[in-house]
Amino acid sequence: MTVLPILRWPDPRLSAVCDPVTEGEDLSALIADMFDTMYAAPGRGLAGPQVGVMKRLFIMDVTWKEGGRSPVACINPEILSRSEALAENEEACLSIPGVAARVARPSVIRMRWFDAAWQRQEAELTGFHAVCAQHESDHLDGRVIFDRVDPPTRGALVDAYEAQT
Ligand code: ZN
Repeated sequence: MTVLPILRWPDPRLSAVCDPVTEGEDLSALIADMFDTMYAAPGRGLAGPQVGVMKRLFIMDVTWKEGGRSPVACINPEILSRSEALAENEEACLSIPGVAARVARPSVIRMRWFDAAWQRQEAELTGFHAVCAQHESDHLDGRVIFDRVDPPTRGALVDAYEAQT
């Protein structure tokens, strides 16, 4: 079991765009460490750049806190479509501990990715699965929850975040 250090905003790596993973690259050890890190944090999602790996992969498990594990590893994820309907949810981030933001995002998405065994996967995601997948995909493009709220809200959230550190 290896728990990796989680980068904290405003580490510049959290604002950088990640590179695609070379197809077939064995990421199983990294993914295992990322799950150890996420469950220990504790969190429901973790993206490569949050542990300093500037590659397009993230993991998520949106059910484990309620009792059943459903780990998913997403390599080179692509969001194929987004619903026009939005849903607003309170989002926290392991890289921005202590604050949460209300973020509006498409409520349903279709996503394609490779799993840890390089099998192609595609699914329609709803509810918190859709929230988490979009939050983690944002990390791969250098975006965090602060980048998904209006400027006054961002200012208040950044002030609250910095006041506690
Ligand atoms: Zn995050």
